[in-house]
This record gives sequence, structure tokens and C-alpha cells, in this order.
Amino acid sequence: MSTVLVINSGSSSIKYQLVDTVGGEALASGIVERIGEAAGSIKHSFAGTTTSRTDPIADHGVGLRAVLDLFRELGPDLQEVGIAAVGHRVVHGGSVFDGPAIVTDEVIAQIDALSPLAPLHNPPNITGIRVARELLPDVPHVVVFDTAFFRTLPEAAATYAIDAEVAREHGIRRYGFHGTSHQFVSQQVAQILGRRPQDLNQIVLHLGNGASASAVRGGVAVETSMGLTPLEGLVMGTRSGDIDPAVLIHLQRNAGMSVDEIDDLLNRRSGLKGLSGENDFRTLHDLVAAGDAEASLALDVYLHRLRKYIGAYFAVLGRVDVVVFTAGVGENDDIVRARALADLESLGIAVDLEKNEGRIREPRVISPEWATTTVMVVPTNEELAIAQQAVDLIGVVDDAADLGHA
Ligand code: ADP
Repeated sequence: MSTVLVINSGSSSIKYQLVDTVGGEALASGIVERIGEAAGSIKHSFAGTTTSRTDPIADHGVGLRAVLDLFRELGPDLQEVGIAAVGHRVVHGGSVFDGPAIVTDEVIAQIDALSPLAPLHNPPNITGIRVARELLPDVPHVVVFDTAFFRTLPEAAATYAIDAEVAREHGIRRYGFHGTSHQFVSQQVAQILGRRPQDLNQIVLHLGNGASASAVRGGVAVETSMGLTPLEGLVMGTRSGDIDPAVLIHLQRNAGMSVDEIDDLLNRRSGLKGLSGENDFRTLHDLVAAGDAEASLALDVYLHRLRKYIGAYFAVLGRVDVVVFTAGVGENDDIVRARALADLESLGIAVDLEKNEGRIREPRVISPEWATTTVMVVPTNEELAIAQQAVDLIGVVDDAADLGHA
């Protein structure tokens, strides 16, 4: 059995995808939205058809039950398909989880204990796991953490230079996020180039609405731009990324802003949106072309930060074999890709404008032949990565059980 139901449970939504890990395809997918509100909705896509329903959805349990009913009604029938596992995306695995884990009551308690580090994400993730376990009790459930790939960060990269006691007491360190994507994409790169992961040093640029960079040495993550939370690092759609921490103190002391207001400012009213009112790159480029000064500055700030990180990761790695772009912006935006790596020929890095042109849906090399660093675009697929990790983990556990019986 190789099919996995992947669930990503948020505070008011459940995204799901039924993934065939052998073919690497999504057999069906959908989303339950506005859980707990007066008008909820479910969209279910299967065999080229998307069906939408609007119904009040009281809670996650009602939502997931409705999804399972849709699988029965519209297909594919989960009984017939025979799912190997349910794979759950969990945002924060703290210092506890360095890889996927089979869900047990103890694992749920551990994820719950990490909730103070991700108060908006871990609690709804747990809700999704609980209801899925109740409704699908006969299949193993596996959790895959956004932070796990970055458990290998060296202490020098993971440690904030603050009072060590305070940091220890409150779990304050750099955890990193988007790890499933950085791991998947860096492994894909090695496979596509026919190289062993341990022989490659890579800079992975996951540029979506949220954005993060990582440095991967020989398949192992050694640096990443996100920290205690997904707020640190690159300029993002609505998040500030790096900022002088004294700005927060200043806003509280002198502008009278509350902690919640500052949280909202930095997470939802900053980044490209805060600078220009627009966080979608397609519109942003149109505004720039029309001479909009704010949009132009927003794009410049975004690219300046991105280039700073690329330069920093060259120094971290010493030798960079591959720079790879992924996620919504990385896969679709040729302007961002070209400008991110412009004028770096002296580092052996360049983008061939013809190879770079347009949206890129399949893995592709976009650097010229002479470049010493290969530049690539590799579409990410977090659902497939979660499904593969779930199947692999169950395989390992089953093999261990078989050996135990022998
Ligand atoms: P997330 O998963 O973080 O929400 P995605 O990886 O889906 O984000 O990326 C979404 C972003 O991708 C959009 O905000 C938009 O800026 C960008 N994007 C999507 N399509 C295009 C396109 N054709 N050209 C340029 N940018 C695009």
C-alpha cells in the first residue's frame, strides 16, 4: 500500500490530499473552510471535477466527517483505494522531533507541550489529528514536522545571543520552518543531477507568500532564515522578516502599541503588503511597470534582503554547487529569479535569461553551461513529501516488527 491521506489542519480550515506515493500524484484533494462560522464550505476535487458544498461546519470533527462522506459519494472510495497512513502536517516539533513520528497519545501530548512556541498552529494541528484518529482508527497516523529538517542546525546557527538562562527556560532558539519543502527540494536536486546528496552544497530558496532560505551541506541543513517563529529572515508577502528588535520596544514604549498590535503589524501588515499595499507578485510587477514608487521600493527591499541571504550562505557553505528556487514565487517569477542572482558572475553564478523565462512547472536548470554554481527551479510538493515520509516510516516500523517476530 502506497496511498496516503495528507491532512493540514488550521484553525478554521482543513486542507487534504490523497497522494499516491509511487506515481507521485494527487488522486484527490480539497479544502474545508470557515469551520465554526455561519457559512462553511468544502471543495473536493477528483478526476478533473471540483465539487463545492456550502454548509455550516460546527467543528473540525464535522468537517472531516463531511470530507470522508464526499470521498464515499464522489470518489475515490478510501476503502477501495486502501490507504497506508494518514500523514499530518505539524508546524512546530521544537527540539523534540528530528523526523516524522507515529501518532500515539504521548506524541500528541508532546506536540501539545510545544504549543506555546506555535500558539496559532500546533493546537489546530492537534485538533485535526484527534478527529482523524477517531474517524480513521484502523490506519496508522504519522506526524511530519515543519521544523524537523532543521534539527541538525549547528549550535552556532541555532543560538540567539541572549542570556542563556532565559533562552533555556523559554525554549528560545532558532528552529526553522518550511523544512519539509527544503528537504524535499534539496533531495530532488540531487536525484535530478544524478549526484549523491552528500556530495552537494545547496542554497534552497523557498519563496512563497511565506519565504525562507536554507543552506544545505551534503544533505544536512546547516543554516536557515526562519527562527523561533516563521517571522524571521526574508521579506515576505505580509511579514517583515528581520528587524531590529528595538523597533518592537520602541513601538510599545513610544507608540503605545500592545503586544497583539505589534504581532499583527509584523505578521500581517508588513512585508510587501506593508510597503506597497500589495503582496501578490503578479500585481506588484504591474504596479512597478506603471511607475508606482511604493511598489518599486517594496520589490527592491525584497530583493536586497534575498541577495544578502544568498551572499551570507555562500560564506556559510564555502562552496555552493546549486542554488535552487521553489514555491509560488520561486517557480513562477522569472523577474525575481533573474534579479536575485544578477551581477554575480565573479562568484561563478548566473541565470540564462532564455532558460529562465516564464513559469516553470518541471525541474529545470536555468544557469549557463560555464557557471560553476548550477541554478535550478524545482517545484516543491509538501503533500507528496509528507506522504513519502509517512510511508517510509511505516515501512521501517513494519520491517522492525518483522525482524522482531523472526
Ligand atoms: P504560500 O504557500 O506561502 O501561501 P505559495 O507558495 O503558494 O505561498 O506562493 C504564493 C505566491 O506566489 C503569491 O502570493 C504570488 O506572489 C506568487 N505567484 C503565484 N503565481 C505567480 C506568477 N504567475 N507570477 C509571479 N508570482 C506568482
